[in-house]
Formats: sequence, C-alpha cells, structure tokens
Amino acid sequence: LLLISHVKKSFGTLEVLKDISIDVYKGDVVSILGPSGSGKTTLLRCVNFLERADYGSISLDDKTIDLKTATKEQASEIQRKTGFVFQNYNLFRNKTALENITLGLTSGRGMSRADAVKKGMMLLRKIGLEDRANSYPSELSGGQQQRVAIARALATDPEIIYFDEPTSALDPELTDEVLEVMRQLAQEGMTMVVVTHEMNFARNVSNRVIFMDHGLIVEQGSPEQIFEHPQNERTRAFLRLAS
Ligand code: ATP
Repeated sequence: LLLISHVKKSFGTLEVLKDISIDVYKGDVVSILGPSGSGKTTLLRCVNFLERADYGSISLDDKTIDLKTATKEQASEIQRKTGFVFQNYNLFRNKTALENITLGLTSGRGMSRADAVKKGMMLLRKIGLEDRANSYPSELSGGQQQRVAIARALATDPEIIYFDEPTSALDPELTDEVLEVMRQLAQEGMTMVVVTHEMNFARNVSNRVIFMDHGLIVEQGSPEQIFEHPQNERTRAFLRLAS
C-alpha cells in the first residue's frame, strides 16, 4: 500500500533521518519504537509533508512522489489519502467535537452539511462520545479529545492513519480509552503507523515493530521477534529500560 523509500532529513548539521525505508501493507499496524530524539516524529512529519525531507520518496497506490520536490498539489493529494493523529490532539479550540470532525468533510470535500453531520455522529458513536457532540475541547478530558482527533482522522476515509505518540500527553487512566479505540481500528483492518512508547500496544496490537535509533532502523520484525528475541544490543537495552 505504502512504500517509504530512503528518507533523509537534517536540521542544520543535525542529521535526524539518515536513510529510512519502510514498506507498509494494507491492514498492517506498524509500531515505531525508539529513544527520544531518534527521529520517529520527524519521519511521520516528512512522509505526510508536514516537514520537507531532504531526500526520499513515497509510493501510495503505486504512485511515486518525491518527498523533496513534490508540488503543493501532490503533497495535498497524499494528505487527503492519509490521516494524522498528533500527540497534543490539535483540535480547533473554538469548534465543538462534532464540528472538528465535520470540518474536513464540508469545507475540505464539499460534502453537504447534513451528510457531514450524519457521518460525524456515526463516528462519535464509534468512539463512544455521541453525547458530547456539542462540547468544546476545553470541556473534554485529554482522552476524549484524542478520541475526537481520531474520529476526525477517520472522517475522510483515509487509506492509512499515522499516529504520533497519541497517548504520551495523557494520564495513565486516560491512555487506555485511547488505546482501546486504536485496538478496535486495528481489528477492523485499518492500516496504521504508530509512533509509541506503549509497549503493550506494540506487543499485542501491532503486527510489525520497528526499532529506530539515531535516524536509522536498527531492527524490525514481528512483535514476538522484537520483544522475545531482539538481535541488536541497542534494542535490548531500550526494551530493558522500557519494561
Ligand atoms: P521523541 O520521542 O522525543 O518525540 P523522536 O524520536 O520523535 O523523539 P524527533 O522529534 O523526530 O525525535 O526529533 C529528532 C531530533 O530532531 C531531535 O534532536 C530534535 O531536537 C530535532 N528536531 C526536530 N524538529 C526540529 C526542528 N524543526 N528544528 C530543529 N531540530 C529539530
């Protein structure tokens, strides 16, 4: 479904991504693990054009686009086909939960308001927040806001959703409700690439785990391979610290 090829990115003299390639198949749930500063967030931002890479390409639906030289139109086409869930939710503060979800459908896609509301309510039901449709983000807990952000990402029927440490801003008791929604999506066959520090999610929900360090993929494999039989010393050290 998605081929990420040879992505490189530096900030000044800091080489954050050295040469990253990842193949994602339909229905894959790929967890990306790694120490702070290893480049995980930058990778997601580069492949979704939130940041310009210095080198590399992505192929989505057999169409290859250069990450450095893509036109604005090509970048928006990729963004239209993908969803992004941010660490800090990034909801519009002055819009209700329902409006946050429907905005991309009405102004983004030209859907009628009635159809957008219908779809928005369906998504709110899916994440268990139907009764909070008219609440503003400030009236919702962090976990609820993140569930709304996931519903917003789902609204445009993306082929793949990127999650950038979706639970790291949340208290432990709110983390579970977000992970539960993500687990449900994975079960429904949604293709997901998840940067996470949640070892239980990586182990039990994803079908592939990638370990990154210093801008490189150090090791990747099934959760069993990575958690039970890590080959690389850096992976072992990281997992020892994380457990
Ligand atoms: P974390 O788990 O802490 O989020 P990460 O693996 O996601 O870490 P990145 O956020 O991708 O790491 O950051 C990698 C490195 O790039 C860090 O050293 C960071 O300071 C640097 N960096 C990220 N964005 C920028 C930027 N816009 N300008 C300069 N440096 C940046």
